[in-house]
Parts: sequence; C-alpha cells; structure tokens
Amino acid sequence: MASEVLPELLDAVRRFVDKRLVPLEAQVDEADEVPADVVDDMKALGLFGLSIPEEYGGLGLGMEDEARVAMEFGRTSPAFRSVFGSTVGIGSQGIVMDGSEAQKRAYLPRLARGELISSFCLTEPEAGSDAASLRTRARREGAVYVLDGTKRYITNADKADVFTVMARTADTPKPADGVTAFIVDAATPGLKIGRPERKMGQRGAHVCDVVFDGCRVPADRVIGAEGKGFRTAMKVLDRGRLHIAAVCVGTAGRLVREMRRYALERRQFGKPIADFQLVQAMIADSETERYAARALVLEAARQRDTGAGVTKEAAMAKYFASEMVGRVADRAVQVFGGAGYIADYGIERFYRDVRLFRLYEGTSQIQQLVIAREVLKDPDA
Ligand SMILES: Cc1cc2nc3c(=O)[nH]c(=O)nc-3n(C[C@H](O)[C@H](O)[C@H](O)COP(=O)(O)OP(=O)(O)OC[C@H]3O[C@@H](n4cnc5c(N)ncnc54)[C@H](O)[C@@H]3O)c2cc1C
Repeated sequence: MASEVLPELLDAVRRFVDKRLVPLEAQVDEADEVPADVVDDMKALGLFGLSIPEEYGGLGLGMEDEARVAMEFGRTSPAFRSVFGSTVGIGSQGIVMDGSEAQKRAYLPRLARGELISSFCLTEPEAGSDAASLRTRARREGAVYVLDGTKRYITNADKADVFTVMARTADTPKPADGVTAFIVDAATPGLKIGRPERKMGQRGAHVCDVVFDGCRVPADRVIGAEGKGFRTAMKVLDRGRLHIAAVCVGTAGRLVREMRRYALERRQFGKPIADFQLVQAMIADSETERYAARALVLEAARQRDTGAGVTKEAAMAKYFASEMVGRVADRAVQVFGGAGYIADYGIERFYRDVRLFRLYEGTSQIQQLVIAREVLKDPDA
C-alpha cells in the first residue's frame, strides 16, 4: 500500500474507534459478543486484509504501518481487535510467508475481505510455552494426512472458517523439526470445536478447544514443507508480537487520557486531584513508559520492514509493552480511586483486559528467554 494513503486509513480507523467502538465497550463486555454489524463495518474498512499483500486483495501494509493501525485500535477494548486480529496476524501469515501460490490464491483474497475468518492452532493442553513438544499427530495416508489431537485456548475458534494447525509428522531428535503446518477447513469431518471458555477479560473475544479426531486433510494443504512448520510458526509470532506490542501502546495511551480527564475533574481537599504531585507522578510515569514503548515498537517494526531479522527486537517490544500496559492499567485504577474498581467507570475492565498481553503469543518469561538467547549467541552484542 502506498504510504500516502496511510494517514487516510489511520484517520478512518480513529473515527471508527471513537464513534463506533468506544460507546459499545461496556455492552460488549456484558454480552460477551461483538455485534455482527460492527464486524461488517470492520470488513468494509479493509481491516481483515491489513497484512495481506495487495496482489491478493489486501492492503499490504508494512510492519510499521500495521503497528500504527494497531496502536489506533489499542485505544478501545482489545476484544474488538481480536475480531480481525487472528485473521490478519497469526491465522493468515503462515500462508502469506510460506504458502504455495495455489494456497495463496485459494485463501488470501477471501481472508482479506473477511469472508473467511482464520485462527492459529499451536497451544495444546500439555504444550504451552514448550510449544515444540506438541503432540497433535498428522499421519500420512496416501494423498491425505490424518490429524488427531487437541488444541487449547484457540482465539476465534468458534468463528473460524479455516485454521493454521501445527501438528507432529515425525519424531525427530529436535522436537521442533518434526512439526508441520497445515491449512485445515473448519468444515472438515473429524474437527470439533469446544465451548468458549469463561475468561478474566477481553470478553467478546472467544477461545475454545479445537479437537481433531481422524480429521483427513489433503496433502496439498501443507504450508511450506513437512518438518518446516515450527519455523513458520516462529516467523509468524515475530510479526504477531510486534502487533500485540503496538496494541499495548495504544491501550496505554487511552488509559493516560482517562487518568488525565479524571484527575482534572475529580476534586478532593478542595482542588482537582491533578494538583497533587503524587497523582501527577502516576500520570508522568505512565506517559513516559508509553512513549518509550512506542519508540521501541516503531523502531523494531521499521527494522523488520528493511528485511532484517527481528526475533530479539519483537520479543523485547512485546515484553516491555505488555508489562508496561499492565503497570499503566494498575496506576489508572489507583488514580480513579474506588471508582477504578467499579465497573461503570470502565477502568477495571481495561485492568482485566490487558492482563492477557503478558500471557499469550509467548509469556513474559518466554520473551526474556528469547532475548537472552539472542544476546548470548551474538558475539557482537
Ligand atoms: C485468551 C487466550 C488466547 C489464546 N489464543 C491462542 C491462539 O489463538 N492460538 C494458540 O496457539 N494459543 C493461544 N493461547 C495460548 C497461549 O499462547 C499460552 O497460554 C501461552 O503461550 C502460555 O502457555 P501455557 O498457558 O501452557 O502456560 P505454561 O507454559 O504452562 O506456563 C506457566 C508458567 O510457567 C512459566 N514458564 C514456562 N516455561 C518456562 C521456562 N522455560 N522458564 C521460565 N518460566 C517458564 C510461564 O512463563 C508461566 O508463567 C491463548 C491463551 C489465552 C489465555
């Protein structure tokens, strides 16, 4: 996408977020559902195709531009972003990065239009942080693979039309080398979706088990080659981590604005609480950290756009930004006092919502391990 049209897109997204989504935040939390007409509007804005190349009908944004859009979306409840997040991110990027031409033509245009929703199946009951130890099996039988196993906490599984599934095709000395990525249509016999889990936050975005029981997948649905799936998953996660980090920056910005508004309005001891330096310190620390995270995310995104490997940078951005927004949300509750704990003010909802960012697409501890691994193996570090 030509970067001249990016300001227009950012402007449209900002207006959509402020006018359409922010007023619906409490309703979505209450009903645990994003209204269908909102999803249609997201399709019309092209949000499902943000990261899909233009030749396949998407907007083809580079990483920096995508991060800027994600920051705008961070300014409202994260559940809204989840509607298209699994499709533009971890659900479609395996096909974009390593799919065959036929796979790209078959799936990407429909994903970009939002006609197909996609999800990413890596985590299992016994394989979370240690994702390479996954046990879902894919056994070759002539022209098909037969999949058996259970995937856990899969975002948008109940809405997905197509899944990118990581399954074991071989028992190799290094477990990651035996993992293959598959495109699996939701309608395939033998694929079942569990009921949505009850969660702490991000209500409106659903996660479910995805169970494969003798699920027969044509061999031409392998992404890349047998045994290359884990590498595909890790590349996809590098991009996904930058996207999540950008959302955290946006949410921190929203929370700083909420703190500012409330601090100027709320009076105690005869003056606005914004006059108290201890309250100012909470706002100052939050804004400083938000700005630092923004700079980190944009720099890492720009590096990725040059074609450089950004495994370490993406992990640092996700680690710092997700921990940062947790601290900012905690301070926002504090600035609001008792009101911060009361549902009507919406701050406790953000506090619950942002907790997830430190857990999925790699916990903070896993980001620390990745960063340390990259530093320790680099003699020029
Ligand atoms: C709402 C939600 C949505 C999700 N969406 C998806 C999705 O769409 N697709 C998907 O595949 N997965 C998804 N996940 C799964 C998510 O990525 C995992 O939950 C996450 O990676 C952590 O795995 P785990 O829950 O098994 O925790 P565990 O791996 O059991 O970790 C438990 C604790 O141990 C720590 N730990 C583990 N190993 C180490 C280590 N070596 N060193 C130090 N500490 C360690 C962890 O950091 C954590 O604190 C989702 C999860 C949630 C909650």
